[in-house]
Amino acid sequence: MDASEEPPLYCARHSSTETLLHCGRCDTPICPRCMVQTPVGGRCPDCAQVRKPPMYIIGAQHYLRALAAASFVGVVAGYAWAQFLPGRMGIFFAAIIGLGLGWANAKASELATGRKRGGGMQLFAASGVVLAYAVRSALLGSPIGNSLDDLIVITVAVLVATTQLR
Ligand SMILES: [Zn+2]
Ligand SMILES: [Zn+2]
Repeated sequence: MDASEEPPLYCARHSSTETLLHCGRCDTPICPRCMVQTPVGGRCPDCAQVRKPPMYIIGAQHYLRALAAASFVGVVAGYAWAQFLPGRMGIFFAAIIGLGLGWANAKASELATGRKRGGGMQLFAASGVVLAYAVRSALLGSPIGNSLDDLIVITVAVLVATTQLR
């Protein structure tokens, strides 16, 4: 198809800008300046907004806050872990501790960021879990990955945290 045979389109927002682009959702003509790239193609600003609920619109300050929350929970939980549960705890208890650790990381992230969600927030919450384990291992001076309990705590905690922040 030869695009030059079609009547010229003008951007819905910039009436003097000729364009060949449409929004992939509502078909509104848009110019390259207005077009928002999304995983499913170019969209007009309105449709790009519709596709993204506010809790998934995340700015640099939210990442910083999520980082602060993960660092705080990681250090505090790691310290408590080393202090109160230095030895073997058994599979069942490990699962409970994992639930608590994952929940704490997800809640801290929600509090710090105003309930932001998505991959970035999940990554920080999971880092908080790993950090807790690293702090605990550093305090106890034991090698990382030495028991099934630890593996269960980490796995459950990461699952819980990422599920809550999905
Ligand atoms: Zn649109
Ligand atoms: Zn435009």
